[in-house]
Amino acid sequence: MAKYGTGAGCDICKPTIANILASQNSAYVLDAGRGTLQDTNDRALANMQKDGTYSVVPRIAGGEITPKKLGVIAAVAEKYNLYTKITGGQRIDMFGARLEELPEIWKELVDAGFESGQAYGKSLRTVKSCVGSTWCRFGVQDSVAMAIQLELRYRGLRSPHKLKMGVSGCARECAEARGKDVGVIATADGWNLYVGGNGGATPAHAQLLAKDLDDETLLKYIDRYFMYYIRTADRLQRTARWQEELDGGIKHVEDVVVKDTLGIAEELEAAMAKHVDTYVDEWADTLKDPERLRRFRSFVNAPDQKDDSITFVSDERGQMRPATPEEKGKVLIGASIPMRPRDENEV
Ligand code: SF4
Repeated sequence: MAKYGTGAGCDICKPTIANILASQNSAYVLDAGRGTLQDTNDRALANMQKDGTYSVVPRIAGGEITPKKLGVIAAVAEKYNLYTKITGGQRIDMFGARLEELPEIWKELVDAGFESGQAYGKSLRTVKSCVGSTWCRFGVQDSVAMAIQLELRYRGLRSPHKLKMGVSGCARECAEARGKDVGVIATADGWNLYVGGNGGATPAHAQLLAKDLDDETLLKYIDRYFMYYIRTADRLQRTARWQEELDGGIKHVEDVVVKDTLGIAEELEAAMAKHVDTYVDEWADTLKDPERLRRFRSFVNAPDQKDDSITFVSDERGQMRPATPEEKGKVLIGASIPMRPRDENEV
């Protein structure tokens, strides 16, 4: 700011700087003064919902989860009276957590082997997969194993915008991989790699970058692709728009990623290797540090007080939901979240 800017930072330069700093290395995103630059969701390591509560989204790599871990999610959701929903990214979101409950909830999840799904970050979200050759009669490759490998490799990777991936076990494309930033589709000889797809307001199909790759080459190309995107895309620019605006489009991406015409492939791979080696789970890291935990309180000057403007009703298809403005002030106490009346006349 001293060198290039004026004032205290605006809504364009602050998130840009926050994003650049967050994607430089894997250091805790809120330390060293970076916390004030991040947006609301990143600061709480959770997504704020319309009623001021937060969602809790553990990583479920490749959409694969054991019955035992499903039981943990069920028990946590019951205990804290959270609304549960299976998402399009093949994981289970829990909604309705108060800010001060987040550390307690996450401690139970981390102790059971879960980690942050980073649904709040401009980072890798999910790698969707079909059941692949293990179960499906048409599958030609193990799409679940590949999806898990990819999700564990790129988890925590912060970028100009969120990143989604998909892996399908054959050309029938049940995982809708071509709607993702990086899509992988099995062939009889390996994997086809597609890049630059997304849903959103302006959907785009991912474009074919390389065919019939072995596992090692597939990872190498994805490493290069993501790092090149992270280093050159504009703030909040998804891969599809970045690719469209690149001079030469997919051909240029192919030149850099596959043919290494810029001679930077090794550098891009090294940057990704560093990311993989230094990844730590943000919620496990938060729970270890009392200073970091101080963020999770509704009132700075009354850390034990709950925000009693948050109210729920508990009859929405068997689960709780936020109270509407009309319902507020009536009987709004959720099944397991008691509300302290402000005065004795209040019901
Ligand atoms: S994409 Fe192919 S392998 Fe995967 S579930 Fe569909 S048909 Fe089966």
